[in-house]
Formats: sequence, C-alpha cells, structure tokens
Amino acid sequence: MAATKDGDNRKFGFSTRAIHHGYDPSSEHGALTPPIFMTSTYAFESAEAGGEMFRGERPGYVYGRTRNPTQALLEERIASLEGGEAALALATGMGAITATMWTLLSAGDQVVLDHTVYGNTFSFFTHGLPRFGVDVRLADLTDPANLEAVITDKTKVVFFETPANPNLRVIDIAAIAAIARAHGALTVVDNTFSTPALQRPLAHGADLVVHSATKFLGGHGDLLAGLLVGPADTVHQVRQHGLRYLTGATLSPMAAFLIMRGLKTLEIRMARHSESAMRIADTLAGHRAIASLSYPWREDFAQRDVARRQMSGGGGLLAFELKGGMTAGLAFMNHVDLVTRAVSLGDSETLVQHPASMTHSSYSAEERAEHGLSDGLVRLSVGLENVEDLLDDIGGALDAAT
Ligand SMILES: *Cc1c(COP(=O)(O)O)cnc(C)c1O
Repeated sequence: MAATKDGDNRKFGFSTRAIHHGYDPSSEHGALTPPIFMTSTYAFESAEAGGEMFRGERPGYVYGRTRNPTQALLEERIASLEGGEAALALATGMGAITATMWTLLSAGDQVVLDHTVYGNTFSFFTHGLPRFGVDVRLADLTDPANLEAVITDKTKVVFFETPANPNLRVIDIAAIAAIARAHGALTVVDNTFSTPALQRPLAHGADLVVHSATKFLGGHGDLLAGLLVGPADTVHQVRQHGLRYLTGATLSPMAAFLIMRGLKTLEIRMARHSESAMRIADTLAGHRAIASLSYPWREDFAQRDVARRQMSGGGGLLAFELKGGMTAGLAFMNHVDLVTRAVSLGDSETLVQHPASMTHSSYSAEERAEHGLSDGLVRLSVGLENVEDLLDDIGGALDAAT
C-alpha cells in the first residue's frame, strides 16, 4: 500500500488507514508487520552529520527519548486518523497532558478547565500547575456561557473531555472552541472516551487533541500510553520541550507497536462497544434499582443533540445512579461476577467502577455532589463479551442492589 506513503490519505477510509497508513512493506524486507526498533540511540555517519542532526539541519534520529521509527509510524497513523497535521507519542495519558501543558504555559498564564475531568488531570491542573504560578479556573463547560464568564485575555488554554469522566457529560466542541479562539486561547480536548473512530475534535475547531492510549486505542489492557495530535509546529514544540526535558515521558517502541496492533481493529471494536453499551443502557433504563442513566446515544440524554452533532456513535461508557446510594453501589459492585471491578476503561473486558468508593473517594460528600457524583453512581466500560452474558451478570447484581 505504498500509495498511503505520500500522505494522500483522503482517498482511503478510516480502517484502511488504521491498518496501512505510513508503512510500505517493501522498505522492510517485505515484512507485513512493521518492525519494532528496540534501540536507545543511533549511529552517525560522520562527525559532521552528527553535528548537523543535533542542530536540526539534517533529518534523522539522534536519541530515543525524542524519536524512534516505531513511534514515528504510530504518530503518522494517529495524526491521519484524527485528521491532524502531526502527532507525538508519550509514555502515558498523563504524560501527554502534562508535557503539553508544561510546553504551552508559563507563570502568570490562565487556564480554564471543565470542572469534572479524569481525577489525575484534575489534580495536575488544580494542585500541580498553581504551584508554578498558573491560574486555573474551573467552569461547567456543558454551557458555553460559563466559559464567557471566566475567560480573559490571559487565558492560554481551555481544556476539557467529552464525553467527560465519570458521568458522561457532553461538551459542545465547536461552541467552546469559537469562544476560546476569539480570546486567543487554545482548545485542548481529551478524546479518550470516543477515539477518532467516533469523534474528531479537530474537525470541530479544537486546536489539540490528547489521548490516554491506555484505553480504547491500545484496547487490550496491556499497556500505558499517551498521544498528542495537532499542528506540526505545536507538536514539534512539545517534543522539543515537554517531552525532551520537561517530562522525559517517552513511550517504549514495544508499546508503540502494541497500540498500532490495537488501531487495526479500532473501528470495529468501537462499533461493537457502542452497540453493546446501547443495548445495556436500553435494558437497564427502566430497572427499579436505577434512578437515572446516562448514555449519550439515548433519546433521553440531556445533550443528545450535541452528542449526535459531533459523535458518530455513543461509545462504550455508560453511567447510572442507583436509588440506594452508597449501600446499593457497594452491593452492585460486590455482586458482579463476569464484569470486573477495576478502574480504567476501553478494554475487551467489561469493567465497572464506583466513583464514591474508588476514584473519587478522596472527595468529600459535598464535593462529590458538586461534581454530580452521587454515592450511588456506577460507571461501566462495556467490553466486547457476548452482550447477553453481560446483561445476565449486570441484571443479577442490580437485583442485589435493589
Ligand atoms: C485514563 C485517562 C487519562 C490518563 O491516562 P493514563 O494513560 O492513565 O496516564 C486521561 N484522561 C482520561 C479521560 C482517562 O480516562
């Protein structure tokens, strides 16, 4: 598939690019599968050539912290799938988020953060960055008017997830990006929950996309990784500063290879995750133990119109609130059998977590209420198992939580 090497990827569909983009087997002895370059450093042809590479005057690989050919192929592929100019692979999702922010921000700058995001993202922005003089303001970005109320000309970055942890609030990417742009701020979207198979934030006006590739992109629960996608100059800055010396959060070539293996099935996996999650959401919605349920593709989802405008499927995550609060939440968790009690998401295995006793247990009850995280809230990451088996297991646990 040498034609994909020239960068003209528009004529190929999503899965074709996820499988072939950027790789020509004839360049690697005909190997169907791209090789894994397990090397920390690279030999220079001559002293002069080494010097030129160091000064950025000659292309080539210098040292593995900033570039590796296996990682470079992954970067080309994810950039193509997200519709971005360039990409950078990093060791974890937190590595991608922090390397990007350390590069973009300085003391005195302001950031607007959606008020409910992944727990460690929240800690980085609200506890980490302020120690270095960055002013971080929280806003509920499900209503763009809330951004208008806090944004100033010192705001450099507006950051959010959509759908957002853990209760799947959906944020209007185009509306937020338009306000941010008018104030000279960059919009950075964490696209972990949807992946580019279901949502491409850059097409809706976002400037940068970050991922925890640990989740759906890797897809098999066997690695940690992060990705950044956006304009080539910004990505280059993050590689040269955020990755090279501000974090050193380099992805291993082996993990880069495993993500590419995951990408080959991303589109069909996301379709199956979405189909099963929808089926489970529809079955659970009327259950007597459940007070409310959030799934972006359901008719009764509050931001249904925004979801349909910017996503092409509901994804694998759904959240529901048990009427019985903490007691019911714990009972549900303890009565699942096939479904696995675990944080993380996006794996073949269906995973369940209870924010009040797990990821958000360090919040006070009042803080949880403020973030819309009730004691009976349960989050499911619907896997790829037989959906009837999942419904049996979840149904049994719900009976125990009634
Ligand atoms: C897991 C996750 C992260 C952090 O990613 P790691 O790979 O665990 O560092 C960031 N954002 C979201 C939405 C996540 O689910």
